[in-house]
Amino acid sequence: MNERIPLKKKILSENDRLAKEARDEFSHHSVVALNLVSSPGAGKTSLLERTLQALGNDIRIGLIAGDVQTENDATRLIKAGGGEMVWPVVTGGACHLDARMIMRVLKDVDLDRLDLLFIENVGNLVCPSSFDLGELMKVVLISTTEGDDKPLKYPAMFRRSGLMVVNKTDLLGTSDFSMQRVVGNARSINPDLEVIETSCRTGVGLDKWEDWLRGLLASGQ
Ligand code: MG
Ligand code: ZN
Repeated sequence: MNERIPLKKKILSENDRLAKEARDEFSHHSVVALNLVSSPGAGKTSLLERTLQALGNDIRIGLIAGDVQTENDATRLIKAGGGEMVWPVVTGGACHLDARMIMRVLKDVDLDRLDLLFIENVGNLVCPSSFDLGELMKVVLISTTEGDDKPLKYPAMFRRSGLMVVNKTDLLGTSDFSMQRVVGNARSINPDLEVIETSCRTGVGLDKWEDWLRGLLASGQ
């Protein structure tokens, strides 16, 4: 039989063990951790920049910024107000973050100084769905410049996410992308999926996202 399957299982069970350690750390320090996933270019970093600008004064936000090769996104987040609460993780080619990388970063993080921790995953809708990072929830971002059938193409990611943010709504009408179809496709995979529509460029809808985050923090997770 194919020997890659047991190896993959072993990697994932080791990852799950480390993710549990991370999750215990987060809950011990009452930190809400969100794992932000999307295709490349959907606007994860832009959403986080906007979030820092809107909420950075009253919520203590930390960000782990994963990227395959550069620290460009981390630099943007530092400039947007993340300051010393931004920790870059360059995977050196790996197409996802894993729990070991998170545990390594957490050695440098004083979780008592944070309320909310965003983990910006590598832009990829495939394997990040399999790697638990100890987060409370995955938030999947999709933009209106993509196909509205993406939830059907990458069902695991949409099944395992609690919220779908549909970004770049200012570009609706410039392509065949249908909001109704993307929501229908996503909820055919995950009927409980929450949906928020945003444009990080114009700012429309960001109030809904901010309210959602405030609600999540207030509910004590
Ligand atoms: Mg980014
Ligand atoms: Zn990967």
